[in-house]
Amino acid sequence: MSDKKTTPLLGAHVSAAGGLYKAIDIGEELGCTTIQIFTTNNRQWSFDELAESEIAPFIERQKESHISIVISHASYLINLGSPTKLVAARSKKALKAELMRCEQLFIPYLVLHPGSRLESSEETCIKAIAASIQESLEEVPGKCMILLEIMAGQGSSIGSTLEQLAAIKELIASKNRIGICFDTCHAFAAGYDFTTPETYKEFWNTFDHIIGLEHLKAMHLNDSQKAKDSHVDRHADIGKGAIGLEAFRLIMNDKRFINIPKIIETPLTTLNDHVRNLQVLRKLIV
Ligand SMILES: [Zn+2]
Ligand SMILES: [Zn+2]
Repeated sequence: MSDKKTTPLLGAHVSAAGGLYKAIDIGEELGCTTIQIFTTNNRQWSFDELAESEIAPFIERQKESHISIVISHASYLINLGSPTKLVAARSKKALKAELMRCEQLFIPYLVLHPGSRLESSEETCIKAIAASIQESLEEVPGKCMILLEIMAGQGSSIGSTLEQLAAIKELIASKNRIGICFDTCHAFAAGYDFTTPETYKEFWNTFDHIIGLEHLKAMHLNDSQKAKDSHVDRHADIGKGAIGLEAFRLIMNDKRFINIPKIIETPLTTLNDHVRNLQVLRKLIV
């Protein structure tokens, strides 16, 4: 793509169907400098390590590409905070396998939905999530960092406040392997406002105060179909939802975020949808 306004790290969540290396090819086609993938089917439990025949072509293709950072998104089934022992144990096993696959592919970040408390208390759930993450990091030594993603606060999910994310992070001893992924749609649906220059400034000051800006390692750029504080997670095209273009203009021109991978997870029917949304973001850069 010949757009000179491309930021260093902007990309999309892309499919790895038919081979992980194919995600790199799609990313290249879209002009991405970063991509996000699932390393396995995100709606099935998977405890597999990857075969060498999957690993080598992926690493080779990435080396030849413009994609400097690949992010993995963990399976949606994982709930480390589940009060059901079987689910919690299975989730930890799946997380370890996710981490192992990231190590095999030299993926530096694994984005994780912290979990849901169901009938347990917030405090119990936060402790369970942190303990399980810590054990997984110890049992899979390496470089991959787990990024706790901010959530919209649907149902009993944990991680829809900066305080909850900070609480989990604080309980994890492996400090250099835990960070935060900020999703614009989730944060907005959770009740945070960053849609005007004033609220934007205030929000990031609050983030810095509660979590620390240096712990922000990735962003998901999605507009929101639902209103602020709706606690409903429905992504919309950039500028077509309740967040609006101004928030994205502020993010795309924020020097602090130039080297933070920014990934769109906007509604996708054909690849053209990603082309269009990335174009909207690139055009915001002044
Ligand atoms: Zn997510
Ligand atoms: Zn979402």
